[in-house]
Amino acid sequence: VKKQARQGKAGKTGKVSQEPLLLGIDLGGTKILSAVVSARGEIISRDRSATPSAGGTEAILRALLDSASSALGQAALKAADLVAIGVGAAGFSDPETGILYTSPHLPRLKDAPLRDVISRETGVETFLINDASAAALGEYLFGAGRKARHFIYVTVSTGIGGGIVINGELYTGATGGAGEIGHMSILHDGPPCSCGGRGCWETLASGTALAREAQRAIESGAPTSILAHAGGELSRVTAREVHAAALRGDALAEELISRTGYYLGVGLANLLNIFNPELVIVGGGLTRLGDRLLTPAIKTAGERAFPRAFRAARFAAAALGGDSGVLGAAAYALQRAGGQPGPG
Ligand SMILES: [Zn+2]
Repeated sequence: VKKQARQGKAGKTGKVSQEPLLLGIDLGGTKILSAVVSARGEIISRDRSATPSAGGTEAILRALLDSASSALGQAALKAADLVAIGVGAAGFSDPETGILYTSPHLPRLKDAPLRDVISRETGVETFLINDASAAALGEYLFGAGRKARHFIYVTVSTGIGGGIVINGELYTGATGGAGEIGHMSILHDGPPCSCGGRGCWETLASGTALAREAQRAIESGAPTSILAHAGGELSRVTAREVHAAALRGDALAEELISRTGYYLGVGLANLLNIFNPELVIVGGGLTRLGDRLLTPAIKTAGERAFPRAFRAARFAAAALGGDSGVLGAAAYALQRAGGQPGPG
């Protein structure tokens, strides 16, 4: 309560230029997004660049620094104007070491000392965090999670990622690896997963899973218009084509989406039982499927979770879209630097 009162006052003091300024960087497999952000979560400038994903550690570090200086340049700022820099990176990293160890979409990157290199090159204190954890913190402070003390952020696209906020604080685990909710085992002998396991949540409830099941059904000769939406090419069938077919009443497409929703609900039930959150924010590209996906997901969660855990939880859509990562990374940096991010 005290914390919120202080945030409230800080928010009323006025101009952006007098507020602490941060730089948030979101390093993904295909793009780097950098933004100069105020402590209240206003985006002052932004740069969007392609990730040199075929490049090694050097190339990626260079691209991050270039993107950062482009965002600063657009705001007519220098690095010295920043309080801190926060980097949210896809892959395995540890906030304590500041190293991005591996990243699934950056095969040539290994043990990149992101935090120390960016800090040395810019002269600004820098912090590193997992991208989905950053997005969770962004939604918590500035988006759909405002005022929730216990919440889970779930992002469903080609895979499933997430972040966990417990008692108002981002939970990063012993070595920064917490929140890999997409890899909880749902089917012990299910489809193989990119992590080396089988039947992980994301092999059953992601866009990739939906596309795979659609391709399999088409191959087995099931009557459907999905293939026509992909120009007749099986390899071009993605969640988008399944959705297009469902919108025109294709029964198989409806069934496949509903089944994906069912598996989404199984995982949500696990999260409700383990964390007893008051809020679950579901975002990511696959949520464009809307109620076709989410209604069976929430129904299944209700059937499988403890009734008390289910009743305690509210489900909400993510509110920040693609900006949650940069906003969250910036807020994380401000928190770690001793400041107090908040919407005011
Ligand atoms: Zn897995």
